[in-house]
Amino acid sequence: MTAGGPPEPLLLRAPLLLDGRGAAAVPDAALWLEGGTVAWVGPGADLPSGAERLRVLELPGCTLLPGLVDAHVHLVASAGPELARDIPPTEAARTLAAVANCRRHLDGGTTLVRDLGAPGGEAIAIANAVEAGTVEGPTVVAAGPAVTMTGGHISYMGRVADGPEQMRAAVRANLAMGARCIKVVATGGVLTRGLDPRVAAYTQQELDALVDEAHRFGLKVAAHAIGEGGVVAALRAGVDSVEHGMFLDKTGIGLFLDTGARYSATFAAPDCIMRGRTVPDWIKDRARPAAEAQRASFRAAVVAGVRVVAGTDAGRPVPEGSPGPVRRPYRSAAPLVRLKGLGYER
Ligand SMILES: [Zn+2]
Repeated sequence: MTAGGPPEPLLLRAPLLLDGRGAAAVPDAALWLEGGTVAWVGPGADLPSGAERLRVLELPGCTLLPGLVDAHVHLVASAGPELARDIPPTEAARTLAAVANCRRHLDGGTTLVRDLGAPGGEAIAIANAVEAGTVEGPTVVAAGPAVTMTGGHISYMGRVADGPEQMRAAVRANLAMGARCIKVVATGGVLTRGLDPRVAAYTQQELDALVDEAHRFGLKVAAHAIGEGGVVAALRAGVDSVEHGMFLDKTGIGLFLDTGARYSATFAAPDCIMRGRTVPDWIKDRARPAAEAQRASFRAAVVAGVRVVAGTDAGRPVPEGSPGPVRRPYRSAAPLVRLKGLGYER
């Protein structure tokens, strides 16, 4: 995760620690870092001998917690007001943008990101570089180009495929690039003109073929799906996660429960688009119905027991001066913190 050798041994002290496994918070906590790993963690009063030699970093007012996971990012995009224009025109420039954005994610406390769409192999290259230790960033699980239909959403960061045979070929092409998961665009999108976000993009047969082929190779499938029909078709095909899912009906929620697919609601995405002063009106017009429907859909899903994951869609627009993804220190946890506002506090 870091370039160069392991950092010097260090003792972090903070008033609170969460272990990320559901255990009670540890008050007056200490965390011993040595050789680039956590050597000991627990209440400060129980520190083993030897700790007195360590340099101590006091973190008053902070909570220590494991690295955050963001299940939906785009490393090549840097949160400009219009996604299509925000992505650099050359592969070299996109790769440099991805290196910089990786660093921002890491600085914000995110230690694993899933990249769900880049024009080429940029995010896959970054994933390999992070693994090799030549670029500093979170672990990257990259999809490569998103699989999208002719005239579909984000074709500028996708691989166009139509018909079941091309769906299978697209999976194989991404596999050959080194993709570790597959992203399919199952409805229209907010940030692309044309097909309405509520309209299903692919037929059931096309989605079935793509998921079957991906699963044959052990690749999980994430489906961009905003409207009910696309969500249902994607879940029927057996996708492993639905991204966005702003319009959910009873059939969709039932399929989530039956299949165990994860719901990556990307709360911050429509919210940030609606609040962005320089986001073009045509994008806001497309985002508005989805933003309005999202809260009720999410509440219904959570109450029914659908399993949710945190995804921010980082790279898409953020409001000016916002501390959100990806311009300033990153807040992956924001979507889950909002669960409180939805009356979900477990
Ligand atoms: Zn996305």
